[in-house]
Amino acid sequence: MEQKKSIEEFGFPLVVDEKSGALQWLDVRELNIRYTISIENIKPFYEGLRQGKLLTTRCKKCNELYFPPQKDCYKCFSSDMEWIELKREGTLETLTVIFVRPPSFSMYDPYTVAVAKLDDGPKILAWLKGDPRKIRPGQRVRVEIGRRKEGYMMYELVPLG
Ligand SMILES: [Zn+2]
Repeated sequence: MEQKKSIEEFGFPLVVDEKSGALQWLDVRELNIRYTISIENIKPFYEGLRQGKLLTTRCKKCNELYFPPQKDCYKCFSSDMEWIELKREGTLETLTVIFVRPPSFSMYDPYTVAVAKLDDGPKILAWLKGDPRKIRPGQRVRVEIGRRKEGYMMYELVPLG
């Protein structure tokens, strides 16, 4: 819990950082940011999700496999990429439970974010379904595609077995 200092007493909107104890300015204005990002170069990724497929790009020159898909290869700087479908299974590497949610996820209960290494090679960062106390790194997971509370489609990790 952040400890608020009184604006009347101190003259400034201050809070005490719970970890360091340092005084911090807590701006009185709230920012509401809505951004747009072009997905023109990775459209097949979204078309794939709609069909229940996890698509990504692989460099045709050096064979590097990316997830999420990339338009250009960071390794050899080639733009000659091909689309491939990933098998939607892998092994859980790490997870963390998010109790302090950003305002945009305030409608969610605490949720779990995890990283899994897909059998095809790349790592995937996604929300993890299930009780995080019963899930351990090394456990097999499957990537499932569904709709979030906000209505849009997204992939998530689901423990197997
Ligand atoms: Zn490459």
